[in-house]
Amino acid sequence: MTDKRSIWDYEDITGRQPLEYLELLSENITGKVQHINATYSGGGVAEILTSLVPLFNGLGIETVWDVIRGNDEFFSVTKSFHNALHGSVGDATDIRTYGQPDAPDGLESQINELNMKKEMFETYLHWNEINANEMNIDGDFVFMHDPQPAAMIRTKEKGNWIWRCHIDVSNPDTHVWNFLRDFISGYDAAVFSTPLFTRPDLGNKRFLMAPSIDPLSDKNVELLQSEIDAVLDRYGITRDKPIITQVSRFDRLKDLPGTIDAYKLAKKQIDCQLILAGGVASDDPEGLEVYQEIMKKAEGDEDIHVLIGSPPFSEIEINAFQRASDVIMQKSLKEGFGLVVSEGLWKGKPVIGGATGGIPLQILDGVTGYLVNSAEGAAHRIVSLLKNPELAQRLGENGREHVRNNFLITRQIKDYLLLMLSLEGPSGVV
Ligand code: UDP
Repeated sequence: MTDKRSIWDYEDITGRQPLEYLELLSENITGKVQHINATYSGGGVAEILTSLVPLFNGLGIETVWDVIRGNDEFFSVTKSFHNALHGSVGDATDIRTYGQPDAPDGLESQINELNMKKEMFETYLHWNEINANEMNIDGDFVFMHDPQPAAMIRTKEKGNWIWRCHIDVSNPDTHVWNFLRDFISGYDAAVFSTPLFTRPDLGNKRFLMAPSIDPLSDKNVELLQSEIDAVLDRYGITRDKPIITQVSRFDRLKDLPGTIDAYKLAKKQIDCQLILAGGVASDDPEGLEVYQEIMKKAEGDEDIHVLIGSPPFSEIEINAFQRASDVIMQKSLKEGFGLVVSEGLWKGKPVIGGATGGIPLQILDGVTGYLVNSAEGAAHRIVSLLKNPELAQRLGENGREHVRNNFLITRQIKDYLLLMLSLEGPSGVV
C-alpha cells in the first residue's frame, strides 16, 4: 500500500501548530517503515493502519504495510493466544458459560489445557517461519502488531524492530506468555496502549501510546441526515424509538449477551431498540459461532437488529449506525483499547462501556459517558440518558473534545515519530 495523504487535511480539526511539528519530526527520520499484522480488515489494528500508512507516506517517509498469511489452524492458535493473553475475567461467569454449556471447568482450564499442547506452539512457529521466509522484511523500522507475527523476530537482519501490543497482557496465561516473551524480548522496543497493559518482565525499552481514530475517514466524517437515513432504511430500521448501538466484532470478550440483557432491562422502563452491528475478522475463527449464539439470544424481539456485515459493512454504514444512535454501548468484558468508544464520542454520543482495558481512558465516568460492570448498571445508565437528552448531549460534547485532545490520528503519528527518533540513537532530535 503506497497511497499518500496530506496531514494538512486535518488543519481545521487540529490547528496548524501540531501539523508543523509532525513535519519537523518527519524531516529527521531516515529510512523505511514497515508495518506487519494479521489482517487488512476487521478490528482496530487494521483500522489504524489504513489511515496511518498513507499519512506517513504523505509526510515523505516511505511506509509499507504487509499482512501475514496462515491456515485455519494457525488462526485458531493465535485466537487462543489472544484470549489467553487477555487472561482471566474479573466476573468470569458470562465468558465461562456463554456458548459453552458443556465446558466442565470453565474457560481458564480449557485455555490451560489448550496451551499445554505442544502442537499449538509448533503450528505458531511453523507459520511464522513461512511468513518470515516469504515476506520481504527490509524496513529500517519494523512494527510487528500483536502476537500473531511476533516470532518473525527470529529472522531479523537489520533495522529497529518494535513489537506493538494492542492487547492487555498484564494478567496473561503464563504458559502462553512465557512462550511469547522469549520472542518479544528480542525486539528493540515494545509499545503498549496504556500503562496498565505492560509487563514487568520485559527487558526491552517500553513505550506507551494510546491508539487513535481518523476523523476524516469515511467511518468518522460528518454525514448528511439523508445519508444516515438511507443506511437505516437499507437495514429496515425505523427511527420511531431511541436507538442503542454496539458496533463490535462477534467476539465473546465484547459481551454482546450483556448488552442485550442491559437493553432488555432498560426497555422495561423506556421503549427503545438495539442495533448490534458487527463482522467477523479474517483472523478470527470464532466469529460465526458467536454471531449464531447472539441471533438465538435476540430471537423473538423485533427491536433487536443483529446485523452482520457480509461483505463487511462499509465505513459509511458503521458511521451511520453510530450517528443514528442515542446511546452507544461497548460492554466489553476485556478490551484492548476499544476504538469504537472514541468513534462514538467523536460523534458527540454518550458511551456506556465496560470498565476494562483502554475504555476508562476514553470514558471519563460521568463526564464523557459511564463505566459499568454489569448489565444492571448499564441498563440504569441507558435509562437515565434516554430520559435526559440534555445530559446525553453534554456528555457527548465533552467526549468529542476529549477525543480531539487525546485520540486523533495526528497525535498517534507524533508518538510514532518520536519513538522512531528515540530509537535512532543520540543523533535523533529527541
Ligand atoms: N468495525 C467495523 N465493522 C464491524 C465491526 C467493527 O468496521 O463490523 C470497526 C470498528 O468501527 C472499529 C474497529 O473495527 O473501528 C474495532 O476496533 P476496537 O478497538 O473497538 O476493537 P477490536 O476489534 O480491535 O477488538
